[in-house]
Amino acid sequence: MIQITMPLNFLGSVYREIRQSLVDMGQMFDLLEQPPEVSDKPGAPDLKVNGGKVELEDVRFGYDPARPILKGVSLTIEAGQSVAIVGPSGSGKSTIGRLLFRFYDVQGGALRIDGQDLRDVTQESLHAAIGVVPQDTVLFNDTIRYNIAYGRDDATEQDVIDAAKAAQIHDFILALPEGYETQVGERGLKLSGGEKQRVGIARTLLKNPPILLLDEATSALDTETEQEIQGALKRAGQGRTVLTIAHRLSTIADADRIIVLENGEIVEEGTHADLLARGARYASLWTRQASEQGEAAA
Ligand code: ADP
Ligand code: MG
Repeated sequence: MIQITMPLNFLGSVYREIRQSLVDMGQMFDLLEQPPEVSDKPGAPDLKVNGGKVELEDVRFGYDPARPILKGVSLTIEAGQSVAIVGPSGSGKSTIGRLLFRFYDVQGGALRIDGQDLRDVTQESLHAAIGVVPQDTVLFNDTIRYNIAYGRDDATEQDVIDAAKAAQIHDFILALPEGYETQVGERGLKLSGGEKQRVGIARTLLKNPPILLLDEATSALDTETEQEIQGALKRAGQGRTVLTIAHRLSTIADADRIIVLENGEIVEEGTHADLLARGARYASLWTRQASEQGEAAA
């Protein structure tokens, strides 16, 4: 048993911090199932972002070191580029996202942002640089403005509107009876899955992170909603480095580069057109998904 001897006001602030991090982590769905296992080096400086170039150099990692999951993955995402990772379930895609967030340290090789090894900078500055687009956004019983500005107490009215516009939810909000002051959440207006997700995108954009990390869950959004979300994500990604961990290939066909991961190794790399023309792994994944979608639509 743990004996609780801490003063209550201290517990209160710990509680708020835990609640905040639970909310943040709740937004990270599949990607970040666990709390970090690493801590900052003493005196570590903050990450200095200069564009947001992401480099994986011969990255090796296993949750159990005896069972390697990533077996020497090398990948450079230039600042402002969008890269998508595809591949079978269990191939290690989400693990790359968890390492980028430094929930674990690599066991071989290195992971760098703008030339700085993630092990050498503070986690707080690292997490501030990476926006995770939530799959399932938690709404508070408060106004829609509060829900977008959540976590950014210094956001101005214009900041909130700009984020909502970029997330393609502004027009929807204006059409509500009380606009940005409309109460949402369980005791207010209920938003659809797609609307909530766009509120989540707006919330992430308000952070203005140079790097966006998107781990798509195999979600059951209908096609129309999915198209709205994709439009919002595309705008959100402009001017940022974007890493998408994709399950549905239709959503990443226009990425600057697509990486096919299999069993912890990159087996193919190129644009959608390159990879289709090659007629190998990606092409067969594409054909399979296209026929599955055809069947689902029929
Ligand atoms: P993907 O996202 O490509 O489906 P993941 O990166 O989530 O794959 O997982 C890769 C492998 O690592 C899988 O075999 C999975 O079971 C395993 N794995 C994921 N998370 C953990 C964990 N916390 N502990 C042990 N094994 C894990
Ligand atoms: Mg995954």
